[in-house]
Amino acid sequence: MKRMNAWGRLSHELHHVQALTDRTQVAPVLQAHQPGVAFGNGRSYGDVCLNPNGHVWHTTGLNKFISFDETTGRLVCEAGVLLRDIQRLLVPRGWMLPVTPGTQLITVGGAIANDVHGKNHHVFGSFGDHVVALTLAKTSGEVCKLNWIQTPQAMRATVGGLGLTGVMVSAELQLRRVTSPWLHTQTLPYQGLSTFFELADGSEAEWEHTVSWVDCLSGQTLRGIFMRANPLSDTELAPRADLQPKKPLSMPWVPPVSLVNGLSLKPFNWAYYQLQAMKQGDGVAHYEPFSYPLDNVLHWNRMYGPRGFYQYQSVVPRDVGLQAVQAMLDAIADSGEGSFLAVLKTFGQRQAKGLLSFPQPGVTLALDFPNRGARTLKLFERLDAIVREAKGRLYMAKDARMPRDLFESGYPNLAEFLTHRDHGISSAMSRRLMEF
Ligand SMILES: Cc1cc2nc3c(=O)[nH]c(=O)nc-3n(C[C@H](O)[C@H](O)[C@H](O)COP(=O)(O)OP(=O)(O)OC[C@H]3O[C@@H](n4cnc5c(N)ncnc54)[C@H](O)[C@@H]3O)c2cc1C
Repeated sequence: MKRMNAWGRLSHELHHVQALTDRTQVAPVLQAHQPGVAFGNGRSYGDVCLNPNGHVWHTTGLNKFISFDETTGRLVCEAGVLLRDIQRLLVPRGWMLPVTPGTQLITVGGAIANDVHGKNHHVFGSFGDHVVALTLAKTSGEVCKLNWIQTPQAMRATVGGLGLTGVMVSAELQLRRVTSPWLHTQTLPYQGLSTFFELADGSEAEWEHTVSWVDCLSGQTLRGIFMRANPLSDTELAPRADLQPKKPLSMPWVPPVSLVNGLSLKPFNWAYYQLQAMKQGDGVAHYEPFSYPLDNVLHWNRMYGPRGFYQYQSVVPRDVGLQAVQAMLDAIADSGEGSFLAVLKTFGQRQAKGLLSFPQPGVTLALDFPNRGARTLKLFERLDAIVREAKGRLYMAKDARMPRDLFESGYPNLAEFLTHRDHGISSAMSRRLMEF
């Protein structure tokens, strides 16, 4: 047995860990060791990948590339392959994953199970939009081949299905062409939430990547940095050695108390704003530091100390977006709790394919909060009320505590999803929010 935690480090419970390494043996392992749940690279924040005192099937040993067609960009690989390894192998050959989240240190299986999104949702949708086919092992011992034509319902349940329909053994993905690893970037400091929406709307037609960081402690007039980027072709630019990704730093230990606290937050957010504001205007960036800035500090989650931290990520429809986001920022300011990283982004007008996929047209706000027990949970209740009224939803990849009614109202396809569940799979989250 081993103590396992998710990225938020909110719990460190014992788990029976079964390491999956041979793709022909996944189904027999599940059959012999259940109920359990797949654990990818543990980059989900809350309890979606945990099963305290029960089994977890650890997938990072399923790390083999199976085939790649250089003419069509179709990749078949095992489900424990990291997105970083796909990108580093294939970007130099002119192919890239169309969608990646804010870290590339996640597995293909984790990316599909949470149907993750990136900064280019308005152009490429979410990860599931680029999954062509899957091999899914069941706890019954069965192995199923899924695709959108022959088994559309099972695909809709498994994409964004939180690992509850089976364990993905391998996946076929459609990559996109790129001619270089470089991006043309623009950094735009701004003030006020309505300016954010103007920038986001004005960028959608011409910019592939759009995202904003906001200082939720900046008071009445919100301070933010809007970033947008487009791929650069190699003919537009000679590769620049000084822009290559740097070797990551590492947070070597867990401090006795959170380094993110009432004293550090305000000056940190102010300093981060000033640093980013200095980059104002046009620039060139390698896709790695632009897309995954947090991957530059390994184990950064330790900074929150032994009690860990929560991420609260919501999406609310666009027509009520300004009011709802403002209300959430006001509630946070009023609570005295602060978030060090607050990310604000609009999603495009596309419905995700998965029955429980998170992305929907609207605006999403993601905030990290040190775990200060009841005080933090009390703030979340206030934020829940705003999301509920706005008819929004919370993101399961980040969640460790959402109330069941908010889950049920946010995910109207839940009843259909439940018919696809594998009865030998159960997680801390599924017990908290679903039948078992
Ligand atoms: C710094 C950081 C930035 C992030 N930014 C974003 C972002 O921009 N957008 C976004 O959408 N998400 C983001 N995330 C969340 C992250 O992308 C997801 O939580 C992702 O699912 C983690 O993948 P993982 O491989 O670590 O899987 P885990 O966290 O270990 O597991 C996630 C889920 O996948 C299931 N699973 C894993 N492998 C399999 C398999 N082979 N078969 C079936 N089920 C499986 C697990 O059971 C669990 O339900 C971020 C996370 C971090 C730490």
